[in-house]
Amino acid sequence: MKLLEELKALLGDSGLLTGADVTGRAAGIWRADTLDALAIARPRSTEEASRILALCSAHNVSVVTQGGLTGLVRGADARPDQLILSLERMRSIESIDPVQRTATVEAGVTLQTLQEAAEEQELLFPLDLGGRGTATLGGNAATNAGGNRVIRFGMMKDMVLGLEAVLADGTVVSSMNHLIKNNAGYDLKQLFLGSEGTLGVITRLVLRLREAPSSQNVAFVAFEDFESVPKMLKLVDRGLGGALSAYEVLWNNFYRLVTESPAKNRPPLPSEHPYYALIEAQGNSDELDKQRFETILESALEEGLISDAVIAQSSAERQNLWAIRDDVEQTFRDGTPVVFDVSLPIADMETYIAGVKAALSEALENSVCWVFGHLGDGNLHIIVQTVDGDALEHRETIEQIIYKPLEAIGGSVSAEHGIGFEKKPYLHLCRSGVEIGLMQTLKAALDPQGILNPGKIIDHVRSDV
Ligand code: ZN
Repeated sequence: MKLLEELKALLGDSGLLTGADVTGRAAGIWRADTLDALAIARPRSTEEASRILALCSAHNVSVVTQGGLTGLVRGADARPDQLILSLERMRSIESIDPVQRTATVEAGVTLQTLQEAAEEQELLFPLDLGGRGTATLGGNAATNAGGNRVIRFGMMKDMVLGLEAVLADGTVVSSMNHLIKNNAGYDLKQLFLGSEGTLGVITRLVLRLREAPSSQNVAFVAFEDFESVPKMLKLVDRGLGGALSAYEVLWNNFYRLVTESPAKNRPPLPSEHPYYALIEAQGNSDELDKQRFETILESALEEGLISDAVIAQSSAERQNLWAIRDDVEQTFRDGTPVVFDVSLPIADMETYIAGVKAALSEALENSVCWVFGHLGDGNLHIIVQTVDGDALEHRETIEQIIYKPLEAIGGSVSAEHGIGFEKKPYLHLCRSGVEIGLMQTLKAALDPQGILNPGKIIDHVRSDV
């Protein structure tokens, strides 16, 4: 094939993988199937990425950009006639500026690599999520990743100051802004953040760093009713004066799943409470922060907002409490479940979840529904499995039950995972026809041939018909 010859001439043997080098790779870090695509092109620079896209555009071949493949919505799935563009050879941290508090990176750098490099300079890159060791910053930007500390620092788009992206025809849009404030016209970087590779390929980023915190306090608390959960959120947020960095809630059956055998963690609090929360504060004064944290929890106990609490006394104990919240893998132990990341007003959560559970047990007798998530951000993760471990066979029924009620309460079918291929049929439940139409207009303007990650988020409407 002529395109492959031209790509090989451009990238050399190691820059273009074909055959078993493609099919030998997993389609995602949590997936059993393998990649099937024309080839994997591995540029070393924005310039090379630009030339790859110009060639693909000339040959009218579609391009699927891949980062660390930690996504959960099949946003980076490729077909056999599509080219995969991997940023895996663009892994350099170009610079960290401690005065301006920015990092300039190539898109293939993993999240954890940047976290550690920032830490060496007593700075913090605040995005944090379970896939940190594999997920790339380019992927985080392209999907607008969220994670555990959104309540304090926002999502990925709040940390991106500038970026460089390649358009479908190979045009390089270099918008490497280092300024915190820049209102000079349209904020073009926003076009690419959360666009899941459908509008351009992000190759470099300028990211905002913060001063690193030196104190960390973590507690697990228990509630007797849901009403107390948001009341406690308000109490700690107000009391901590900006230091609250996580407020993660676990419904009872998820708490039991991750603290009872065969899970390796043990319950830090008795298992009979209906709701639990992991609360984290980060500050800069060990003694004062600890005191303030304890005082708030004590007054919550006195007021009866929480019925029990345990505060980690060491860094190992803090890690243990986080390990409980993060042991989502337990939901995969009987087979692949159906995973959701919905967003909805906190005031609607209790009724919504009760309705979902009732509808699930009516439709699927032996179903299990685990609920946990970033409650402070209005983001719940719902994971559904059946006793037989065959939830995927009932995917559509389950999706209808989870998604349908969100429309009436102004919720979203995706809080942080994105739409990809998987949630496209439900996008209309949380976006109007006018909004989807505008997305299609932008897509047609930036990628008129529809070669960038086709079929993801929205259907491409050709501009020439
Ligand atoms: Zn999450």
